[in-house]
Amino acid sequence: LKNIAILTSGGDAPGMNAAIRSCTLAALHYGHKVFGFLHGFKGLINNEFILLEEQKVRDIIHCGGTILKSARCPEFLDENNQQLAADHLDNLNIDALIVIGGDGSFCGMLALNKHYKGQLIALPGTIDNDVDGTDHTIGFATAVNTAIDAIDKIRDTADAFERVFVIEVMGRHSGFLALNVGIASGAEQVITFENFKNPGVELQNIAEHIKLCKEKRGASSYLIVAAENLWPQGIDQLCNDLQNYANITCTPCILGYIQRGGSPVPKDRIMATKMGVAAIDAIINGKTMVMIGEVSATIVEVKIKYAVRHKKQVNGDLLMAQNSILDIAELAKINK
Ligand code: ATP
Repeated sequence: LKNIAILTSGGDAPGMNAAIRSCTLAALHYGHKVFGFLHGFKGLINNEFILLEEQKVRDIIHCGGTILKSARCPEFLDENNQQLAADHLDNLNIDALIVIGGDGSFCGMLALNKHYKGQLIALPGTIDNDVDGTDHTIGFATAVNTAIDAIDKIRDTADAFERVFVIEVMGRHSGFLALNVGIASGAEQVITFENFKNPGVELQNIAEHIKLCKEKRGASSYLIVAAENLWPQGIDQLCNDLQNYANITCTPCILGYIQRGGSPVPKDRIMATKMGVAAIDAIINGKTMVMIGEVSATIVEVKIKYAVRHKKQVNGDLLMAQNSILDIAELAKINK
């Protein structure tokens, strides 16, 4: 029987608790002992942990956040701290550690693997969906839902005032959230890493498209969904730029941290549950340095190295769909 530890690291994501729950319940089912390290890699360095028992995880499937807390831990880049973390795991006779987090956390696992001889299993938990080797990460579906819910409300007020809104969504340096949220909320424009040329070209395209829409529809609402970390100096600047370039008045709206919180949607709860059980199976089967993913509704194991080194591409069909909806051909005629 094994001692298994779990931690959550990086940005919290709805469904992390569902993953903690299923890992714990599956491990207890087979008679293993489960430890929860607190505050991500900080907990490993500080030897801060709790025992995870059935009653601690039984009723958390619907809760956002993470009962194990999360953290960014730059100290973990230091090899001495990685060794300290490995020593703490060894002192507790931990046979396997499950890390629920994003690709940054998986880099932490690659580093820890140099010092720790136990098994290391990753579960993709981030709202950004920017982890390769899995179609979706735990938390992404909920974040899309939360953002759409908010944007639908913004649409109402934008309609009432016939205004242009620029709405910033999270995603760090990838466009999964922006593109999915943009399409599902019926935004007139989605500005994301995958279709971004340069600020000059984008400004011209956006301004022309807004004017084109106004000519066709008359005054109406117009929503631009923009990925964070994309427009130089942020969306306030994009609004200023549109004002200065084309005399278009826009209202900026940053959705921010609401996208990380809330009760996970069923898809995240179910996927997290499947992944948690698969993580324990992987441990029982002696696996290490693998991430549990889900591809085409089937659970898969991929090397952590692969998940970290390959940049997952946004689905081309989505980009095409958004481009068609933007009526690029019409825009091209105007550009001539
Ligand atoms: P999200 O993208 O959802 O925020 P993430 O896991 O990518 O999640 P990061 O902040 O990038 O979040 O990484 C989480 C933690 O992983 C870092 O705070 C650090 O402790 C650890 N980490 C990241 N990169 C490395 C590295 N190269 N070496 C050691 N540890 C690392």
